[in-house]
Amino acid sequence: MTKQGPRPRRTNADLVESGHRGYFPGMPFIIDQTICRTDNVAVLVHDPASGETIAIDAPDAEAIAARLRERGWRLTAILNTHRHHDHVAGNAALKAATGCTIVGPAGEAEAIPAIDGAVGEGDTIAFGGTTIDVLETPGHTMGHIVYRIPSENLAFVGDVMFSLGCGRIVEGAAEAMWGSLAKLAALPRETIVYCGHDNTADNGRFAVTVEPHNIDLAARVAEVAALRRKGLPTTPTTIGQEQATNPFLRAGKRRLRRAIGMEDAEPAAVFAELRRRKDAFA
Ligand SMILES: [Zn+2]
Repeated sequence: MTKQGPRPRRTNADLVESGHRGYFPGMPFIIDQTICRTDNVAVLVHDPASGETIAIDAPDAEAIAARLRERGWRLTAILNTHRHHDHVAGNAALKAATGCTIVGPAGEAEAIPAIDGAVGEGDTIAFGGTTIDVLETPGHTMGHIVYRIPSENLAFVGDVMFSLGCGRIVEGAAEAMWGSLAKLAALPRETIVYCGHDNTADNGRFAVTVEPHNIDLAARVAEVAALRRKGLPTTPTTIGQEQATNPFLRAGKRRLRRAIGMEDAEPAAVFAELRRRKDAFA
């Protein structure tokens, strides 16, 4: 990897364009997204220099294998974020077909099919001349982890955060989930974020009920509708974009707290209330 100068400032239109092409100016990797199952996103990251290709989660072996064939890439590793079936279903078949290595969260390693290596907070994984960091992000599942490539400002967040939304609290307490979202919100604003599901349009319908006067949110909802009409994915997003628009990242913001009548509440309590409302939202 060559050392880059100051990173160009990206507009949201640049992000959308780069997301579709899978190429970001100055980044040595090519990133490919395939929507499979219902709204799972299979993400492949390819390093042309080394020939390595990693999959973030493996929702569907056939869909991923087809994409690898189309691209002419050889899968070298699967990095699982958590143990849910729609993230590990393709593990065994892809490993059998490609001989790839499978890495997954130490907190739920026994539930990750065909796993070779378990990782937790602070562990690093070598990839294409750079390093992938592991962050523990409990809440959706207690063992959930996020993979981050600091050198490229990239993060793969699984089912912790979605664009305009967040994962359901399946196992953890709301406090744990809020802590994990706060950890992601503290990453650099320009961090490019790939999520485990493309459910932005659904999330947006709820988000506007929480902050009907948030103009950044309204603009994002319109953009997402336009992308959907064209049949294009609505992610990646950025931490900065989510800080401005995602109600679940905004539980500490006075404007949001006032909008839902919880001006004096702690952020974790506001987050828990938002999650309850979303769970009950039709
Ligand atoms: Zn999940």
